[in-house]
Amino acid sequence: MKFTELGLNSTILQAVQEAGFVEPSPIQREAIPLVLEGHDIIAQAQTGTGKTAAFGLPIMSRMKGDGSVEGLVIVPTRELAMQVSDELYRFGKYSGLKTATVYGGASYSRQIDRINQASIIIATPGRLQDLLESGKINIEPRFVVLDEADEMLDMGFLDEIKTIFTHLPDERQTLMFSATMPKAIRALAEEILHEPKTVTVTKTERTNTDITQNYYVVQDYERDDALVRLIDFKNPGKCIIFCRMKKEVDRLVSHLSSQGFKVGGLHGDMEQKQREIAIRAFRNGTVEIFVATDVAARGLDVNDVTHVFNYHLPFDSESYVHRIGRTGRAGRKGEAITLVSPGELRTIKRIEKDVGTKMITQVIPTKEEVLNTKKDQLVAEVAQIDVTLSGINLVKTLQHDLDIVTIAHMLASMIAKEHTVEGKEAIGLGLDEIERLIQRDSSRSKDGQGRSRNRNRTRRPQEGGDRGSYRNNKPRRERNDGGKSSFKPKSRNKSGNRSE
Ligand code: ADP
Ligand code: MG
Repeated sequence: MKFTELGLNSTILQAVQEAGFVEPSPIQREAIPLVLEGHDIIAQAQTGTGKTAAFGLPIMSRMKGDGSVEGLVIVPTRELAMQVSDELYRFGKYSGLKTATVYGGASYSRQIDRINQASIIIATPGRLQDLLESGKINIEPRFVVLDEADEMLDMGFLDEIKTIFTHLPDERQTLMFSATMPKAIRALAEEILHEPKTVTVTKTERTNTDITQNYYVVQDYERDDALVRLIDFKNPGKCIIFCRMKKEVDRLVSHLSSQGFKVGGLHGDMEQKQREIAIRAFRNGTVEIFVATDVAARGLDVNDVTHVFNYHLPFDSESYVHRIGRTGRAGRKGEAITLVSPGELRTIKRIEKDVGTKMITQVIPTKEEVLNTKKDQLVAEVAQIDVTLSGINLVKTLQHDLDIVTIAHMLASMIAKEHTVEGKEAIGLGLDEIERLIQRDSSRSKDGQGRSRNRNRTRRPQEGGDRGSYRNNKPRRERNDGGKSSFKPKSRNKSGNRSE
């Protein structure tokens, strides 16, 4: 079955095609026609089955694009809000449908500005309730989606969700997605859905999306900063960073360990004994970040690698496949993250073609976004701490001189100090910029001649190799801060394999 058979409008289909989707996934096949017909639905499907497109495509296909907020998607976490927003932005761009994300911790005025320009809002329950209750925004969405509903109830958002619905128009189409269907979910469905159709997708029908492949476009001098920020944001359990050169491995190992990460390296010059020690450390978790060259990592078999980073693209597509295959093993989910310079966008297209998959353009999270994520993590961590006797005694001692609130503030400040993020607010290129580059590349490659000529001209000295010579050969921009990273050492959350 093809996407064209589902009844979506042509501008949406154009975006789907560009996203590289060829066949609709099972949940998409079932849900899209029902949503296009105007039904409310309640859908049960696991992670990675393509739910975002299952609700996003049909509602966007039916939107007018008249500048009002026509759709509202409620998701449990900030990170999901950003993910869903990126995906919907992609689907809506030819239809002029803009997205806005709404979540706690960020500035109100900026979010409100965005909301006023958006056709679709992607929001977490807390902030959305806040905006609606205070009358800061007034929206009348015809399409309302609850994504990961079970997750939201687990997080205790039931009241917020109920309040939110009191502010929504009765004349609406409501879609509810959940991986599980406990009683509370059914009860909520009863309340907010109108004669819903049920869609269920069983596990075996999952699309093969065990490894998410993302890429980020940065200037060459931003690679180090980008890497550290992404590690900080993704908070990987175990990850492997791939480099092209031994020299780069050594440099990154010392750079990252100076940032407070538990990092080890692997390259071809190491003796067998050293190699074994390094691999053992990675396997048992003493080392969480492993920096390696392609050759050295061949055959490296560690089951719980959550992320693979390509610090530089590999030389050929086959190596790319080998590299990313280090994650998503044994039925787990994995993420491959590739850093590319603007000049390497073509190589991305080539790999996609060779490998037959789609890599997704992403934007590096801003400092604010990482800070917010870290704040969430910190709050969750603190909430889980068991009170110990020594803790109680410490507070007793402090209470001789200080009142309890001051003590709390001081202790919190002590912990929070470890969770700061410094450096540039934004790193790398935004989606619009990347879009423009890709367009330019594709229009250029149409006149085959110009392409190869241009290639030679823009080739950089020693890509990924000797930074020193690159530095000497190329005038650098003012704001370039070289390999110096902007991060303070941080305390890494040991069990910090953030679930997504
Ligand atoms: P879920 O919300 O069910 O966890 P997502 O909507 O996030 O899943 O989709 C998971 C991944 O699969 C995303 O990277 C998405 O772009 C991709 N994807 C979704 N539908 C398709 C499809 N029909 N063909 C190829 N890739 C798809
Ligand atoms: Mg999802």
